[in-house]
Amino acid sequence: MITSRFAPSPTGRLHLGHAFSAIRAHDLARAEGGSFLLRIEDIDGTRSRAEHVQTIVADLAWLGLTWDRPVVFQSERLDRYAAALQQLRGEGLLYPCFCTRSEIAEAMNAPHGPVGVYPGTCRGVDARGRMDEPHCWRLDIAAAVARAGPLDWNDGGETIRVVPEEQGDVVLARKDAPASYHLAVTIDDAAQGVTDVVRGRDLFAATHVHRLLQALLGLPTPRYHHHELLTGPDGERLAKRHNAPTLTALRERGVDGRAVADDLRRRQLPNDASRT
Ligand code: GLU
Repeated sequence: MITSRFAPSPTGRLHLGHAFSAIRAHDLARAEGGSFLLRIEDIDGTRSRAEHVQTIVADLAWLGLTWDRPVVFQSERLDRYAAALQQLRGEGLLYPCFCTRSEIAEAMNAPHGPVGVYPGTCRGVDARGRMDEPHCWRLDIAAAVARAGPLDWNDGGETIRVVPEEQGDVVLARKDAPASYHLAVTIDDAAQGVTDVVRGRDLFAATHVHRLLQALLGLPTPRYHHHELLTGPDGERLAKRHNAPTLTALRERGVDGRAVADDLRRRQLPNDASRT
């Protein structure tokens, strides 16, 4: 039986791209008589807002979506993430990183090394006596890959070979948050029994990391369905368009949410979406 989920971060208002993703995840489960879950990814305490949780719930209901089981909040599950971090640290797969934002930006733009990937400056650094300094925890990706061996995942029926090295030594716990998106999402999809992860192609690269973490933590691997991103008539991603209305704006304007959902099911933008 299929269990899918929608897992928004309450850091802003939902837009039509979110709705498209939520509807696809919802319909995949409902078509099979399965379950659809809502999880609020609010580990980023500085950017998450309770008011956004309220509008997310209202927006999804307006679209005609229903979910099973109580909503799960990641901020209430920090002990689970801490336990996983401790396990990975105990296995020597994590290292503390003391780099500041500007040091990382500088290192990432260095002429050598892949662009946009942390070059491992703090890997192997002597951290004794420094643990009071602000630091995050990074996964030693080479060591992790060596431990896990070859991996793949199923993406819409296609087998994808895992190449997490391209992501570099990703952050698993941040200076200001006890877990990163990668760690929390992997643990929670397993804990909630999610069989099918439906999300946009913008998160495809992250799945390399999630699959690796599943192997390291002994968690099951769901099927993945990375869908295309909704674009406007100009071909630009809806999420990036300045004038794309939020779901809340459409709802408050009296637009019929179920009709919007049906338009999105046909990959059509609702007429009202072009107005702000
Ligand atoms: N919380 C993530 C976001 O809002 C999505 C997580 C996921 O679908 O894996 O971008």
